[in-house]
Amino acid sequence: MALTLYNTMKRQKEVFEPLVADRVGMYVCGPTVYDWAHIGNARPVVVFDVLYRLLKREYGDVKYVRNITDVDDRIIEASEASGEAIDSVTARTTQAYHDDMAALGALPPDVEPRATGHIAEMIETIETLIANGHAYEAEGHVLFDVASHPPYGELSGRNRDEMIAGARVEVAPYKKDPADFVLWKPSNDDQPGWDSPWGRGRPGWHIECSAMSRKHLGQPFDIHGGGRDLTFPHHENELAQSVCAHDTEFVRYWIHNGFLTVEGEKMSKSLGNILTVHELLVEFPGEALRLTLMSAHYRQPLDFSRDGVRQAKHTLDRWYRVADGTAVAGETPPGVAAALDDDLNTPQAIAEMHALAAAGDGAGLRAASDLLGLLGSSAENWFQGSDDGDEGSAHIEDLIGRRRAAREARDFAAADRIRDELAAAGIVLEDAPDGSTEWRRE
Ligand code: AMP
Ligand code: ZN
Repeated sequence: MALTLYNTMKRQKEVFEPLVADRVGMYVCGPTVYDWAHIGNARPVVVFDVLYRLLKREYGDVKYVRNITDVDDRIIEASEASGEAIDSVTARTTQAYHDDMAALGALPPDVEPRATGHIAEMIETIETLIANGHAYEAEGHVLFDVASHPPYGELSGRNRDEMIAGARVEVAPYKKDPADFVLWKPSNDDQPGWDSPWGRGRPGWHIECSAMSRKHLGQPFDIHGGGRDLTFPHHENELAQSVCAHDTEFVRYWIHNGFLTVEGEKMSKSLGNILTVHELLVEFPGEALRLTLMSAHYRQPLDFSRDGVRQAKHTLDRWYRVADGTAVAGETPPGVAAALDDDLNTPQAIAEMHALAAAGDGAGLRAASDLLGLLGSSAENWFQGSDDGDEGSAHIEDLIGRRRAAREARDFAAADRIRDELAAAGIVLEDAPDGSTEWRRE
């Protein structure tokens, strides 16, 4: 059966056909590195990891590009708030992201471009947009001229008023139109900046993905993905920039995942319900989190709960028992393959796996798990890990180390946050007079 995918641009499922036979290019918007990734950020990572594995199986030659946004106002704010240098903030959080996503069984992308490594390409794209009459300079800023591109809004399907409201755009005096968005903006001496034809400044967010996708995949390319919130304004703006700068199609298939909520609520700082992957890994094996993230269809909302993860853990216990001792099998069971080919229907694939487990088909379960990135450990390691796995302990030690560093830096708020995080996971810390810290489970 052929792979079908729901294309946001066409608002329907389509049979996937790569531009070049047997070769696929995929670009997924990656993290802005200023803080721990939360479990919502992990959803696109797992969804596109499943797609990547499926494409690799069907096409062999897949180039998966996922960027790192390492210049952004949120990074500047984080650095100002804590006093930690920007380079240190981005390096530390990028490393944490890599560790956390690996723990979820996500394969690393083939290319992981950093925005700060592609400033020259962004400047070049902006210069082309100005030359083509699609952008203008005003008071050190360069803005995209939305009125110059009538199809603007085609991806998100929003009308002009909705776009202005949705983008929460600033009505700035230097803008010709409130819908115009920033390609380049000036930096003061304390902010990161690069020399440009418009003075020292930094790029807007959207231009980085236009420049980096073109550099690493060419234009057009096959698949562009990310969370649904990116449809507007981020992807709408990328699309406008890329089409106007280069006068060719940009992306063939736009794929967007739905949002994750926690116990029925949107995660937010004000509700205090942001669950980081890092803290969840103290409580649960990464594979159980991965299966939880695959339990809803990727376009549907997913309500995350600890009970859901416990259930996923039980499912994996059962599957590990059935698959124990079976060698790695060949063919993916047809029911599982058909489910994934149908717009990545992971809940259906999981139902098929339950049926394989019920039938005692360990080999089939292994073959399906290979494709889905599950059952990666030996049964022995898995069941050992359930009680007090090395992975869990390593995370706890790691958090204790970070707490010590925070205290040494006299950042007591951060230190307390880590202690509270561990307490919430049932880990009690005891500080000895010599400065060392012991931990135990409640
Ligand atoms: P950010 O670092 O904020 O740009 O987000 C990184 C990725 O996570 C983007 O693809 C977002 O769409 C996605 N994302 C953020 N929050 C959620 C959520 N609650 N559920 C699903 N995806 C999310
Ligand atoms: Zn992007």
